[in-house]
Amino acid sequence: MQTHINLPEDDHFHDECGVFGVRGVADASAVAALGLHALQHRGQEACGIAAFDGEAVSIHRGLGLVSDNFGNREIIQGLKGSCAIGHNRYATCGATILRNVQPIFADLSFGGFAVAHNGNLTNAYALRERLVRDGAIFQSTSDTEVIVHLVAKSAKKTVLDRFSDALHNIEGAYSLVAIAEGKLMGVRDPSGVRPLCLGRLGDAYVLASETCAFDIIGAQFVRDIEPGELVVIDDAGLHVHKPFAKTESRFCIFEYVYFARPDSRVDGRSVYEARKHIGAELAREAPSLDADLVVPVPDSGVPSAIGYAAEAKLPFELGIIRNHYVGRTFIEPTDQIRHLGVKLKHNANPDVIKGKSIVLVDDSIVRGTTSKKIVEMLRQAGARAVHMRISSPPTKHPCFYGIDTPTKDELLANNMSVEEIRNFIGVDSLAYVSLDGLYRALGKAKRDGKVPQFCDACFSGEYPIRLADFEGREDRTRKVSALG
Ligand code: AMP
Repeated sequence: MQTHINLPEDDHFHDECGVFGVRGVADASAVAALGLHALQHRGQEACGIAAFDGEAVSIHRGLGLVSDNFGNREIIQGLKGSCAIGHNRYATCGATILRNVQPIFADLSFGGFAVAHNGNLTNAYALRERLVRDGAIFQSTSDTEVIVHLVAKSAKKTVLDRFSDALHNIEGAYSLVAIAEGKLMGVRDPSGVRPLCLGRLGDAYVLASETCAFDIIGAQFVRDIEPGELVVIDDAGLHVHKPFAKTESRFCIFEYVYFARPDSRVDGRSVYEARKHIGAELAREAPSLDADLVVPVPDSGVPSAIGYAAEAKLPFELGIIRNHYVGRTFIEPTDQIRHLGVKLKHNANPDVIKGKSIVLVDDSIVRGTTSKKIVEMLRQAGARAVHMRISSPPTKHPCFYGIDTPTKDELLANNMSVEEIRNFIGVDSLAYVSLDGLYRALGKAKRDGKVPQFCDACFSGEYPIRLADFEGREDRTRKVSALG
């Protein structure tokens, strides 16, 4: 008998997310809403908060921005308690996905269990098949619900042991925050692919994907949660558990390139400084001798353009102005809208551009749509020459660990050489920083001949965590095996 898992196509890979947790403050849900607001760049399509008041968990989830869903005082007042977790999610469009919005909550034998996840599991389908065969009833298509079922089914006694038991079954990238029995829990996968950090707000503890979520509430950064570390926060304070055997840390290098906010410190480094170093490295590797000025593609190219300009001793100018009231173009669902999105979002600053030879700096080229449009715009504004410089190596491979990238076929650098891309986006010259250069800029030794210290699979194609659901399927469709 063939069993199909009835999952809407393409419902799974938009798992760029931000998570937040707090325990020990009077208005935990209001604090969580602020934290999520600071993490809005990690996912703009949906958000949710679950709060625990000592007796019950209450939860509110919705499509759209944090301010759309939690700007209303009554909603926050309905989420009572001193412990709360929250989640921002990139998700596909349409009403059906509301059931996938996190935190996910279930009443289990020990009481309520709420969990929020940043990352992507790589064996969720295999686990789901087994669970469904054993009678589990899934409410959502989210990987995260698999974790809830594993906790529910675990034969272990304590909540902590059941949670650890579930974690031993899952593979992939995950930073999780959870509430159970009034405890706040946080965990990073053994390779530490996605970020999670710990802060203090007075006597309270805070967990967040990035430190910018601490700044907004006036919390102090304490440290990063270590790869494979599970922390439990209860009335007695913070308890640290190490449920996994030690493995190499492989933090996502793309968090530094693009994803994290520049004012965050991620995994011990200032993202802003890291990006400036990458820009300087790019200037050393790929100088642009006849250029008059350096122009960033805002906002993602700004810090690396500052680094490039300083190293190249060229003026830095805002030759492109961004309209901040439009979301990230990348999240628009169709090509047509994406094209429109670029025009809505960026405009050339003609007095800066006219007659000038420009070094145009952006963090990455994914499909090439943004760069092509921006270059056209600069030419129309009278640029004499455009030299494009990219502060990451060519993005050739899809991410299976929680960054939303298109399939391998849609990645421009998978289909074209650098010269072909130069021609496609219409620039006078094009150069990317090398992978070794990127490592150097991040203060790590050359990658050559060594175990890489980051997950750089999007550039190298070397995936550090087994891709059980996807073996040989770089189109990122999952293998659904026959059962029975
Ligand atoms: P594209 O038009 O597909 O080449 O888009 C490239 C632009 O999207 C760059 O300016 C990046 O800053 C941005 N970008 C790169 N990766 C992502 C991602 N995973 N999610 C959202 N935006 C991205």
